[in-house]
Amino acid sequence: MGITDSFSTLKDVLIGIDNVQAIGTLMELQQQAYSILDENRELRLKFEEIERANEISGNLSFKNGAYYLQDDENPYCSNCWDLDKKLVHLTQAPRGTRLGNKRCPACANFFTVT
Ligand SMILES: [Zn+2]
Repeated sequence: MGITDSFSTLKDVLIGIDNVQAIGTLMELQQQAYSILDENRELRLKFEEIERANEISGNLSFKNGAYYLQDDENPYCSNCWDLDKKLVHLTQAPRGTRLGNKRCPACANFFTVT
């Protein structure tokens, strides 16, 4: 029986004995429990996100100013990974620019990747 089922059962009991104060207290407890459940869900998602980032970090190597994943020869933006833990492939920089040969489509930084 989950916490929400327990609240429903207790609510039915309190309605049966017609105790308004107890029903009011139960409703407050129920709201607090829902808040805790929501917070727990958010924390669980955040934790999974951190676990995912840690797992990816273990498979990244840094060279020539960019990150590389195993079995992927295309470089990833070091700025986006370092700041936001987002993997963004670098793309070819526009012709004629002297800022670098690769550019990040997300943060618009240029890189010189050989
Ligand atoms: Zn970037």
